[in-house]
Amino acid sequence: MTFEELGLGEEILKAVGDAGYSSPTPIQAQAIPQVLMGRDILGCAQTGTGKTASFTLPMIEILGQGRAKARMPRSLILEPTRELAAQVAENFNTYGKYHRLKKALLIGGESMNEQTSVLNRGVDVLIATPGRLIDLFDRGGLLLTDVKILVIDEADRMLDMGFIPDVERIVSMLPKIRQTLFFSATMPPEIRRLADAFLMNPKTITVAPPSTPAATVTQGLLMIPHSGRGGVNDHKLKREALRKLIGEEKPKNALIFCNRKRDVSTVFHSLKRHGFNAGELHGDMSQPARSATLEKFKNDEISLLVCSDVAARGLDISDLSHVFNYDIPTHPEDYIHRIGRTGRAGKSGRAFTLAMKEDGKYIERIKKLIGRDIPPMPMPGETNTAPASNEAAKEEAPTPAESGEKRQGRGGRRGGRDRAQKNDAPEKNDQKRAGKPEAPKAEASGKKDPAPRKSDSRQSRGRKTEDKDSAEVGLGKHVPAFLLREIPPQK
Ligand code: AMP
Repeated sequence: MTFEELGLGEEILKAVGDAGYSSPTPIQAQAIPQVLMGRDILGCAQTGTGKTASFTLPMIEILGQGRAKARMPRSLILEPTRELAAQVAENFNTYGKYHRLKKALLIGGESMNEQTSVLNRGVDVLIATPGRLIDLFDRGGLLLTDVKILVIDEADRMLDMGFIPDVERIVSMLPKIRQTLFFSATMPPEIRRLADAFLMNPKTITVAPPSTPAATVTQGLLMIPHSGRGGVNDHKLKREALRKLIGEEKPKNALIFCNRKRDVSTVFHSLKRHGFNAGELHGDMSQPARSATLEKFKNDEISLLVCSDVAARGLDISDLSHVFNYDIPTHPEDYIHRIGRTGRAGKSGRAFTLAMKEDGKYIERIKKLIGRDIPPMPMPGETNTAPASNEAAKEEAPTPAESGEKRQGRGGRRGGRDRAQKNDAPEKNDQKRAGKPEAPKAEASGKKDPAPRKSDSRQSRGRKTEDKDSAEVGLGKHVPAFLLREIPPQK
C-alpha cells in the first residue's frame, strides 16, 4: 500500500514525502480513506502507531476547502495533555505546509489573550485540552457550532485524568451532525460507552497493540536491595544505583520515569547535584517551563529528562538512546509505552527498570503482558566492564570498621547492608556539592578518569588502615617455616 492509493491530494503527498515516509502505517492505511469519505472512526491504537497522521492527513485534505469564521473553529481536536496538543499542532505544520490552514492551540498555562486573539481571526483547526477549552467557552470567547470534525484523542488517558465529564460537556456543545474520530489505546467499558454515545456507525479500526516491546529494545531489571533502614534510605540506594547505571550506560539521551511527581523532582535535583545534565517534566510545572525543558531535551541541551507518565505521554522524541524506569510502572501497559520511547523505527534502544522486592507483583504483570522475562542484571559496578567514576568510588569508601571486617560477596545479604551504610555519604556530599558548577557530562557519566576497580581500591584502603593500626616491618608477623624447623644438634 502506498500513500498515493489513499486518496490524498498532491500537496499532502508532497509533504508526506518531505517527512520521509515511504508507506502508510496500518492505521493510516485503514483510517485515511474512511475519514476522507466522511465516516466516523473508532480507532483502537496508541502512540507509536502513526495514529496522529491517520487523522491529521485527511483533516488537512477536507479542511483545504472552505473558510473559517471568527471564533468559530471548523474542527476540534481534544488532547489530554498540553504536550500532546503541541505535538499535534506540529503535525499540522509538517503535513499542512503546502496548505494555508489556520490553527490555534488552546492549552492551559499559556497566555489566554494570545490564544483568543488567534481564535478571533478564525481558525480551521482548534487543538485544545478540555479544561482550557471549557474555560474560554464559559467566558464567551468561542462558539463551537461550526465544528464539522471532532477528534477525541487518547480517550483512555482522558478517563485516567478525570477529563471525561469535561469531554461530555464539550461534545454536548457541538453540532449533532459532524464527523467524529475517536482514538483510545484501550477500550474499558467506560470508554466503550462514550464511543457509543459520540459516534455514528463508526468504522472500527484496531491496530495490533504493541503488547510486546520492539525487538530492538534491550531490557534489563535491576533489583535494588533494601537498606534495612527505612524508605528514605531505600530511595538513596535507588538514586545511587541509577547514577551508577547512567555512568555505565553513558546514554546519549534518556527519559527517566518516576511514578510520582514528588519523586520526579527529587531524582532530578539529586542528578543535578551530582553534576548530570538533567531536566524535569511534570504536571505541576508552568507550561512555558515545560515547553522550554522539552525543547532543550529535543535539542540535546539536556541529556537526561526525569518525567512522569502523564507529562511524557506520547512524546515523540526521535533517536532516544535510553529509558530508565526509576519506578516500576504499576500499569503494565505503561511499561510498554515507556520503553517504546526508545528503539523506534528499527533503531536500537536500551531500557532499564529499577525495582525493589515489594515490586514483585508489578514485575509479574509486566512479564505476563510482554510474554517474556525482563533479564535481571547485576548491580552497576559489579561487572568488570564498567569503570566506576571517581566520585562513586569515593562514596563507596569503607569505614575503618568495615575495612577491618572480613567482606562477603557483594551480591549477598550483607552486601546490601553495606551499601546502605555507605550510601549515607553521597547524600551528605550532595549538600556540600550543591551550588558548585556542573561537572562536564562526560566526567559525570564516568567517561573520564575511570577509577580503579572497587575491589582494587578496597584492597589498597584496607592495607592503609592496617598500616596505621600496626605498622608491619619486613615479614611482619609471618614466620617462615624454615625458621621454626628444629636445628639438629651439631656433632
Ligand atoms: P504517532 O503514533 O502518531 O505518535 O507517530 C509515531 C511516529 O511515527 C512519529 O514520529 C511519526 O512522525 C512517525 N510516522 C507517522 N507515520 C509514519 C509513516 N507512515 N512512516 C514512518 N513514520 C511515520
